[in-house]
Amino acid sequence: ITQTRTAHLQAIDAAHHIHPFCDPKSLAERGTRVITKADGCYVEDSDGNRILDGMAGLWCVNVGYGRQELVDVAARQMEELPFYNSFFQSSTPSQIALAERLSKITPGDLNHFFFANSGSEANDTVIRMARHYWHLKGKPEKYKFIGRHLGYHGSTLAATSLGGMKHMHDMGSSTLPGFEHIMEPHWFAHGGNLSPEQFALRAAQALEDKILEIGADNIAAFIGEPIQGAGGVISPPPGYWPEIERICRKHDILFVSDEVICGFGRLGEWFGCQYYGVQPDIMPMAKGMSSGYLPISAVAFSDRIFETLNEGGPISHGYTYSGHPVSCAVAHANIDIIEREGLVERVRNDIGPYLQSGLAHLYERHSIIGEVRGAQALAGLQLVRSRDTREPFAAEDNAAMICRDICLEKGLIMRAVGQAMVICPPLTITHAEIDEMIDKADAGLREAASRLGLD
Ligand code: PMP
Repeated sequence: ITQTRTAHLQAIDAAHHIHPFCDPKSLAERGTRVITKADGCYVEDSDGNRILDGMAGLWCVNVGYGRQELVDVAARQMEELPFYNSFFQSSTPSQIALAERLSKITPGDLNHFFFANSGSEANDTVIRMARHYWHLKGKPEKYKFIGRHLGYHGSTLAATSLGGMKHMHDMGSSTLPGFEHIMEPHWFAHGGNLSPEQFALRAAQALEDKILEIGADNIAAFIGEPIQGAGGVISPPPGYWPEIERICRKHDILFVSDEVICGFGRLGEWFGCQYYGVQPDIMPMAKGMSSGYLPISAVAFSDRIFETLNEGGPISHGYTYSGHPVSCAVAHANIDIIEREGLVERVRNDIGPYLQSGLAHLYERHSIIGEVRGAQALAGLQLVRSRDTREPFAAEDNAAMICRDICLEKGLIMRAVGQAMVICPPLTITHAEIDEMIDKADAGLREAASRLGLD
């Protein structure tokens, strides 16, 4: 694809727009790619290049771009009632309908929903509500949270603290007290000579060790993403999640599954915890909830927590746009699309396995891939200098960034996270589009390996 960009837009952007998580030097050198349109699994830039979006926006456009149905629903709701709040003992039909709709797809007794606008706000809500819950139970000292290294739960101050991203903690000392982190279940990085199954138990044991170290009486909850997305698609080996759930139950700490990426069909189940066969007490969700068409998030609570919260009187927590009527209407219609088109089953039985077999093919062809991680429609390719010795690239090699940029030149968006390439396409992706993705990644990996001096 062409390298020329729309210069005046780029100049204005560089002068006035602070980009999240972007390197200013690289922005100054190369400018931004201005995305102007999108349809299906493709986005189009200001030079008219069509690019296959292997990241579904930012892990969110599960039903693909260009859904007129969602546009129509939003327009109708805007005309009828663009906004009303839910603070004054008031509600709107779309909020009511969405809460009920969600209760039909969430596992077990996660039947009660608090609405927010982003994954970060959802996780701030998790922290406040879990602490409030223990307060009401007469155990106010149970306030600490345990997360994991390389976990990502958002970018507000509390969500940054909850997550385990060191570079985020380091920026302006952005951490609050009361947050602890344990080892991430990254077999390739930490497994040594252990089998994946042995390693799963060891990584889960880190939770119990931490609980014993700081005392269960001080801990509100453990939080984890079913597969750690922003950490580099760290998918735990079999046995990890059931063991984590058992340890949480044993020590009476709440189990929170952050479904912001894994929810809404990504792993071939409605929610990622179902893929791993575990039942959380609290479940934040966002992104795929509205496929990114409008901002919305929610936190699901179990019957038990809901009852305790209700007994405690007014909830002193909420956002002006909690349950925004237009976002609720769009989320509801988005869930209808996922169900009507059978996208959850489609991932499980068709495109998940098809994508994974394409990636297995890449693994056979490229020794720069040390490991293929993830499951179904969420995948990570760990890049290594040597597969045999698991020798990583040096940080200065910028291996994943180089590979990402080459793939983009070929018309494929993948994300570089640490030393992994990440793939998370819309769930509507066709076999032909997966073939195109694999072909482009194949060529990109070959070129990257050559540029990194591997052949
Ligand atoms: N949790 C997880 C697992 C996420 O991946 C993200 C965002 N990538 C968030 C929370 C935060 O969501 P948001 O960016 O909408 O605040």
